Amino acid sequence: MTAPEISVGIFTRPEADFTLHGLFQTPAGEIVSGSHKVSASGDKVVWKGGEWDELLLIPSSLDGDSFELQGVTIGINFHWQRKEKQRFRGTLRIIARDGEVTVINIVPIEEYITSVISSEMKASSSMSLLRAHAVISRSWVLARLMGQKAGDRSEMRDDADEIVRWWDNEEHSLFDVCADDHCQRYQGISRIQDSAFYAAADTRGIVLTTDGGTRICDARFSKCCGGVFEIFSTCWADEDERHTYLKPRRDWTDPTAFPNLTIEKNAAEWIEGYPWAFCRTTNKMILNQVLNSYDLSKNDIYRWTVTYTREELTNLVRVNLGRDLGTIQSLEPLARGMSGRIYRLRINGSKGSIVIGKELMIRRVLSDTHLKSSAFTVHVEGDTFTLRGAGWGHGVGLCQIGAAMMGETGYSWEEILRRYYPGAELTKLY
Ligand SMILES: [Zn+2]
Ligand SMILES: [Zn+2]
Repeated sequence: MTAPEISVGIFTRPEADFTLHGLFQTPAGEIVSGSHKVSASGDKVVWKGGEWDELLLIPSSLDGDSFELQGVTIGINFHWQRKEKQRFRGTLRIIARDGEVTVINIVPIEEYITSVISSEMKASSSMSLLRAHAVISRSWVLARLMGQKAGDRSEMRDDADEIVRWWDNEEHSLFDVCADDHCQRYQGISRIQDSAFYAAADTRGIVLTTDGGTRICDARFSKCCGGVFEIFSTCWADEDERHTYLKPRRDWTDPTAFPNLTIEKNAAEWIEGYPWAFCRTTNKMILNQVLNSYDLSKNDIYRWTVTYTREELTNLVRVNLGRDLGTIQSLEPLARGMSGRIYRLRINGSKGSIVIGKELMIRRVLSDTHLKSSAFTVHVEGDTFTLRGAGWGHGVGLCQIGAAMMGETGYSWEEILRRYYPGAELTKLY
């Protein structure tokens, strides 16, 4: 195959301002340059006093020409959310739906990967980590382009005594991927780093595959596994047989040396212990490659503690669950995945009890944002609930802090990918 192009949705809003640096052309051959404003009238784009089905502005060169968008929001729903000016290469496409314009950037996939690696990763990262992430990022987006993602999947089962919810990455209808963390963070050429360019170029066209190279892997990753990788079904659908490369493995030199963490007693010892793992580090130079400075200041990633009063916990459960279980009496892990992450938890209150799952649902109910992970133990003393936990994120696939440590200590990007996706192959698609 040849390297495809990808359409990235930058934002949707009532109007947009953009500046074309260089010469752009419409399909009708009109040459356009300079600053412009567009708005929407129903499903029509309003531009230069006329109404258009869409606006397609193609640069005369991919290297020299670029366009700039005003007020792009980054970090949506994060504490550091802000607006900034961003610059992009490639084609600018603007469409309108229901009185709002959607601004889309169409770029060659390798340019997209370079930008994603620059936007998501720190310049201080090792080349091994950047190359590994380039392959993951490419695998993710190509799986989506080639229709190999199941897409739009979730489960919401609300019974009287059990609530099971999980969410998987939803697809977009007007473009392939969005520019925010929902898909992969993409900020055009605003922050391009040389190291990201080389990471993409060195791994050009390479993806993780399975089934003899016929299927692209679902290359999940999270911040910190907590010592052992989790399997797919703890977090999403029961599809472990489709994800044989997402195996439970210890994040250490002997990948099979770990206890059965689905057993409560083993899980408690593991989580409350401090076992060796690549991600067991407090080295700021390593952590800084994966975390932003706000998260770094707390230094509680591999093992962490959260304390609630009985009243706080009762309020959290009532607000987040929308049900009144009365005063919370206890939290009872019913089922744990391979990394010790709980995926069925019984919450017992004075007026009733309920079972919740899966992994992310538990993290959302027991926090006003997200609990770092669902690998935790519960200790109640008087009116104080202490959760002692391990890891950050779902723990499936690549552990970013572990991979950062591997890269820093001399492992290659191939070794990193083989550790976190055991059995997956590396296939060059173009
Ligand atoms: Zn998205
Ligand atoms: Zn790890």
